[in-house]
Amino acid sequence: MSEAVVMKKKKKFADEPNFTEKKSYRPEGVKETGLAFVGHEISDDGEVMNQFLHYDQLYTIRHGRNSKFFKGLLDGEIWGTKCPKCGDTWVPVRTNCWNLDCNLQETEWVKMPLTAKVHTWTIAGWSGKSSLKRLPIVLVYAVIGDSKVAIANELHGIEPWNVEFGMPLKIMFKPKEERVGAVTDFHFEPADRWEPSPMTEEKERIQQLVEPVYKWVKTLK
Ligand SMILES: [Zn+2]
Repeated sequence: MSEAVVMKKKKKFADEPNFTEKKSYRPEGVKETGLAFVGHEISDDGEVMNQFLHYDQLYTIRHGRNSKFFKGLLDGEIWGTKCPKCGDTWVPVRTNCWNLDCNLQETEWVKMPLTAKVHTWTIAGWSGKSSLKRLPIVLVYAVIGDSKVAIANELHGIEPWNVEFGMPLKIMFKPKEERVGAVTDFHFEPADRWEPSPMTEEKERIQQLVEPVYKWVKTLK
């Protein structure tokens, strides 16, 4: 009943780019089986970044179209994506807009400010071996610029009980030579001129909860 249509088989993936910029920072003779970023590669055209993560065995994380975000971290920049139709912006990035009216519109890259505000937060009283001595650690979900979503990272430079919802933050990057293109390349700190509000009953309660953690950390060698 119908004509035979010869469909040209669609290629599933684009050709792999050529990677010339390769860096390896795996420490010599390390037997540590924990999680460590051990290198990355960036394509000739600068568009694609892959990372090598050692976590018991070696993994390659292919960032594909999200590469600009991770490359940006190496340069001390935060890149987000923006929908040209509705104007929504995201960090962590989305390659397509999720708003139903936008019909999966492809997003565009936008450079974000190095400022954020606390969406929500928690205090970690326990952690992996490598960060035990830094406990208690304040973890925040923070909204960078006008992003519609929040990103998780550590908040430094504050007593844990002084954190407030909506408080303004600045983004601080590690020195360039220590960055590996991962979100751990930066952390949050309270914005300049921000002052904690006076003690409350709730703040005192949190202070009492973290006191044993500080004491315990002092006993660690
Ligand atoms: Zn949209």
